[in-house]
Amino acid sequence: MATRDSRTPFVGGNWKMNLTRAGAAELARATAAAAAGRAVECVVFPPFVYLGDARAVESRDLRVGGQDCSAETHGAFTGQISASMLRDSGCTHVLIGHSERRHGLGEDDALLARKIARALDAGLVPVLCVGETLSERERGEADAVIESQLCGSLTGHSENALASLVVAYEPVWAIGTGRTATPSDATAAHATARKTLGRLYSGRFAERTRIIYGGSVNARNAAELFASEEIDGGLVGGASLVAADFAAIIEAAARR
Ligand code: PEP
Repeated sequence: MATRDSRTPFVGGNWKMNLTRAGAAELARATAAAAAGRAVECVVFPPFVYLGDARAVESRDLRVGGQDCSAETHGAFTGQISASMLRDSGCTHVLIGHSERRHGLGEDDALLARKIARALDAGLVPVLCVGETLSERERGEADAVIESQLCGSLTGHSENALASLVVAYEPVWAIGTGRTATPSDATAAHATARKTLGRLYSGRFAERTRIIYGGSVNARNAAELFASEEIDGGLVGGASLVAADFAAIIEAAARR
C-alpha cells in the first residue's frame, strides 16, 4: 500500500489570463530557479500564447501545462486548443474542469470526461479540479459534490489509464477570494475525494493518487495546509504570479 511519502508533492501555478510575454518569461525563469533541486513536481500553467516563452526556460525542474484542452481532437473548433497541440508545444500537464470553466463557462462532467480522454490520449497528465460552491457547502453538500464531480468526470476511464491523474480540490468560495479552507476542512474534503477514488477504482489507486488543495494558498498558509497527511501540494492562482511567494510555497511543499 502506498503512503504519503511515496506521493511526490505537486505545486501548480495557474497564471490564468495574466502577464505579458516578457513577464511570463521572467516569471518562468524565477519559478524554475525556485524549483531547482526540490523534490517537488512543479508545473506552471501560462496562457496558451505564452506557453512557448515558459517552455524556453531551460529547466529540468519546471514543467509547463495548458489551462484547458478541447474535448475534440482537431477540426472546425474556432478558438479551441487540442491536447495533442499542447503536447506538441512541450506541455506535460493540463488543467481540466477548473471552476472558472465549470461555473464560468458551464462545462459539465460529461464534457470533462471527454477532455480527460483527449489529455490521456495525448500523453498529458490531467489535473482534474473539483469543489463545491459556497451555497453547496452551507447546505452540507460539499462531500456529495466532490463525489459526484469525481464520478462524473472520471466516467469511462480505467485505473490503468488514470495512473498519472492529479486531483485538485478547490472549493469555489476559496478561489481568488483570500478565504482559505481550514486545514481540517481541507483534510476532510481530501479524505472524501480519496475514499471516492478507492470506491471507484481501488485502495491502491486512491493511496498513490496525489490530491492537492487550491483556494487562496499563499506564502503564509502553505506550510500549515501541506502539513496535513491528506494534502499533497497545491494549485495556486494569485500567489503564483509573485515569484517570491510562489518560491516560498514550493519550499513549503518540499519540506512537508
Ligand atoms: C486557482 O486558480 O486555481 C486558484 C486556486 O486561485 P487562487 O490561488 O488565486 O485562489
